[in-house]
Amino acid sequence: MDILAAYKEHLREIGKLSSALSLLHWDQRTQLPNGGQETRAEVVGKLTKMVFELSIADKLGRYLEELEKREDLSEEESASVRVVGKAYRRNKAIPPDFYERFAIAASKAETTWEKAKERSDFLLFRPHLEEMVEYARQFAEYYGYKESPYDALIEEYEPGMTSRELRAVIEPLRQELVPFIKRLQEEGTPPETDFLRGTFSKEEQRSLSLQALRTIGYDFDAGRLDPAVHPFTSSIGPGDVRVTTRFLVDDPLSGLFSSLHEGGHALYDQGIAPKLRWTGLDEGASYGIHESQSRMWENLVGRSLPFWTFFQPTFASTFPAFSGISAEALYRAANVVEPSLIRVEADEVTYNLHIMLRFELEEGLITGKIAAGDLPELWRDAMDRYLGVVPEKDADGALQDVHWSSGLFGYFPSYMLGNLYSSQIFACAQKEVPDLDTHFARGDFAPLLTWLRERVHRFGMIYEPKDLVKRITGEDPDASYFVRYIEEKYSQIYKL
Ligand code: ZN
Ligand code: ZN
Repeated sequence: MDILAAYKEHLREIGKLSSALSLLHWDQRTQLPNGGQETRAEVVGKLTKMVFELSIADKLGRYLEELEKREDLSEEESASVRVVGKAYRRNKAIPPDFYERFAIAASKAETTWEKAKERSDFLLFRPHLEEMVEYARQFAEYYGYKESPYDALIEEYEPGMTSRELRAVIEPLRQELVPFIKRLQEEGTPPETDFLRGTFSKEEQRSLSLQALRTIGYDFDAGRLDPAVHPFTSSIGPGDVRVTTRFLVDDPLSGLFSSLHEGGHALYDQGIAPKLRWTGLDEGASYGIHESQSRMWENLVGRSLPFWTFFQPTFASTFPAFSGISAEALYRAANVVEPSLIRVEADEVTYNLHIMLRFELEEGLITGKIAAGDLPELWRDAMDRYLGVVPEKDADGALQDVHWSSGLFGYFPSYMLGNLYSSQIFACAQKEVPDLDTHFARGDFAPLLTWLRERVHRFGMIYEPKDLVKRITGEDPDASYFVRYIEEKYSQIYKL
C-alpha cells in the first residue's frame, strides 16, 4: 500500500476508537448508573491506552517521516501531517512510566482537592499541588520550549501562543477593564432583575432550550440535548454532536444560556467539513477558537437586544409571568455586571479578570517565581486589586477550580482568548453580512451561521488559531474589539 493510503488508514483506526471513547464518556456523564462506573472506568482505560499506543506507533512515525518530505500533498493532507506529527512528537517525548506515575498522582490530587475544597483546607491540598506543579514542569522539559516552560504547556490548548504574547494582551486589557468595572459599579444604574424571581419547572426550561437551539440552527437530526451536572458538548463524530445543559429551578436564564453556549460549541463541530473526518483535523482549531463560538452564541447573540426582541414572546408563552415584561427589560436583566468570587458564575465583563489572575499565578508556579504555599494570599490580593472582592475562604479562592489538581496548567487562557476572538470575529461578520440585527430580531440566525460555516467551522484544525483569525478577519488577533464591544454595550445598559 502507498504510504499516504497507509497513513490515512492508520488515522481512521484512531478515529473510530476515539469515537467509541467519546460515546462512552458522554454516557458516563449523562446516563450510566452508578453501579456501572467501576467497570466502565476499566473499559475507558483500555480504549484510551489503545488510542495512545496507536498515536505513538513506530509505523506512524515512519509514515510521518516519509510524508513530511513529500511535496505532492494537498493542503488538507499536509495540514494533517503537521498536526498529527506534532502530537506524535509530543506524546513520544513523554516516557510511559513517567506518564503512568503522573496519572496516578493526578488522580490522588483530584480526590484530595475535592476534600480540601469541601473543608476549605488549603494546607491539605498544598503537597499535591506542589507535586502537580513539579510534574507540569517536567512535562515542559520533555516537550521543550524556547523562552518559558509555560509556553510548552499552553501549546496543547492554543497552538502558537506564548506567555510573552499573552502578557502583551492582558496588560492593556486589564487597564481598560478594571476602571470600567469600577465606573459601572459607582456611576451606573444596574438593571432591574426582581421579576426573574420565582420557580421555573425544568420541563418547561427544557422546551425553551430546545426551541432556542432549533432557532440558532443546531441540527437535532445530528444531535440531542440531555441534562448534565457540568454541561459539556460531545462530538462523537460527524452526524452526532450532542449537547448537555443544567437547569436551575430558581433561575429561568441560567439553563438557557448554558444551552446556547454548548449549542455554539456544537454548531462548530457540526460545521466541520465531512472530508476532514478521521484525518486528525476534525476538531476545532484550538480551545480558544472553540470557546469563541460558544461565547458568540451565548453572549454576542443570546445576550443581545435583537435576540430578545425575537425571543420574548416564546419566553412569555412558556412562562406567562413574563408576558408583561418587555424584550428590553429581559435583555437588561440578562446583562447584570457583578464582581464576584466564582469564575464560572462571572458575567462577560468581569470574566476575563478571573482568567488573568489564574494565568499570572499558574505561570509563576511553572517558572518557579511563585511558591504553592503563597497562592491563597496572592489570590486574595489579586482579587482585591482586579475586582474589589476578596474570598473569605480558600474554597472560593485558590481551591476554586479543579484544573490544577488534575495537572492542567496553561488551559485557563483559552477561556479569555475565546471571549476576545468572539468579539473580533463577530465584528467582522457584522461588517460583511448586512443587517444581522434585523435578521436576529425576526428569529433568523441563518445568515450568521452560514457565514461562520464558510469562514470558521469548515476548516477544522487546518489552520493554527492566529492564522485562522487572520484569514477570517484580515487582521491579527486584536483585543480592542472586545473592549469596544463591552464598553459600548454596558455604558448603554448601565446608563453611563
Ligand atoms: Zn465552553
Ligand atoms: Zn434573513
